[in-house]
Formats: sequence, C-alpha cells, structure tokens
Amino acid sequence: MIEIRALASGSKGNCYHITDGHTSLLLEAGIPFKDIRRKLHFQTSNIAACLISHEHKDHCKGLNDVLKAGINVYMSEGTATAIDVKHYRIKTVQAKQPFQLGTWTILPFDVQHDVSEPYGFLLMNQQGEKLLFATDTYYIKYKFQGLTHIMVECNYSLRILNENIASGRVPKVLKKRLLRSHFSLENVKEFLKANDLSKVQEIWLLHLSDTNSDADLFKREIQELTGKMVFVP
Ligand SMILES: [Zn+2]
Ligand SMILES: [Zn+2]
Repeated sequence: MIEIRALASGSKGNCYHITDGHTSLLLEAGIPFKDIRRKLHFQTSNIAACLISHEHKDHCKGLNDVLKAGINVYMSEGTATAIDVKHYRIKTVQAKQPFQLGTWTILPFDVQHDVSEPYGFLLMNQQGEKLLFATDTYYIKYKFQGLTHIMVECNYSLRILNENIASGRVPKVLKKRLLRSHFSLENVKEFLKANDLSKVQEIWLLHLSDTNSDADLFKREIQELTGKMVFVP
C-alpha cells in the first residue's frame, strides 16, 4: 500500500516521502536535509533513493546533504548539468526509459517548465499500484492508465490570478511566466478529466502559490469533480 507524506510543498521548498511498505523514496530535496530528518523523526536510513524533477532551488537545495547521507539521487542529464554538482551518487536517467529502485519501477517523462530538462515520474510497484508525480509543469501531454495515486501541481487559479493582477497585488508580467511554467487549477481539471480515474484512491495537489491559490477551494473543486480523496499539504 502506498503511503505519501508531504514534508514540504510550495515555492519555498518541495519534498515528499513515499513508500509502498518495502522501498522508501524521497521525491525532491527542496529543503535542508536536517529538516527532512526532523520531519521523518530521524528515520532516514531506509530511504533507497531520491528523485529530482528539475534544477530550481525549491526542488534541490538539500541535494548536497542528501548525497552526503549516502542516498543516490536520480534526475535528467539536463537537470544534472544545470545543477552542476559532481558526485558519484548522482545518477542520470532518460525520459521513457524505465528503471528499477527496490520494489518500484520508475518511468521518467518530460514535462513543460522553463528549465533545461524537467521530468515527471510514473512509479509502479509490485502490488500493481501506480503513482503519478508531476510538478512544475503547465501541462501534461501524456495520458495514464490505471493510476491509483496522483500527486500533481495545482499552483494557481486563473480567476484568482486575474483578480490579483486587477488589484495590483501581482505584477502583470508574472502572469506570462505562470501560464508557461506552472499548472493552473483549470488545467489540472482538464488533465484529470482526460485520464482514467477509475482506480484512483488519492489525489494530492502540490506546490500551491502563496498569493494566487485557495487551498480549501482547490480541494473542494477537485473533490467534487472526481469524487476522490483529495489532500492539499
Ligand atoms: Zn517549484
Ligand atoms: Zn520550477
């Protein structure tokens, strides 16, 4: 059974711990490792590996200490080049080339963000569960069958963003970047509608904006749309 724990989510740092009862993984290392340790009650020795989606600091600022703790870290070639840390525990992987970490089979895929080679990850375990992890992407061009757990960015609502721009709270130039880099509530809904949700047990909405989101509203609207359990860490 998949268990998800959000240690941090948002532009100040992202880090999630997942396990299928056999193999524990970190998704992102965007907070200091001492905070990861504290939030996991110092039970970090069984972490098999860490996956990093892209080079922005809110996803990798804890990288050096994660490496020092003896944890292998997986990312794209483009992300590794952009981060520019040389370490034998950094392993580069390729989109659409599945690899194995303990009981997980992991399929990286390309996502849409303003960095060199960002990845989302599809994680499958031996119980037939399938977890989708996709953050910092304004769009997901793939469809997935038989997902059981969805962890997806839901950064902003276009309606709230437009209100904030109208009131001067958010500069207009920011909108242009957001539209081409982060997932809106409206687009998350379209993505969910386009996918087979029949086996989905949990939907996690990640990386909410401080100013252009509303956690309660996002949770309620996605719950109403899907009828699933929705978590907003
Ligand atoms: Zn981010
Ligand atoms: Zn980013």
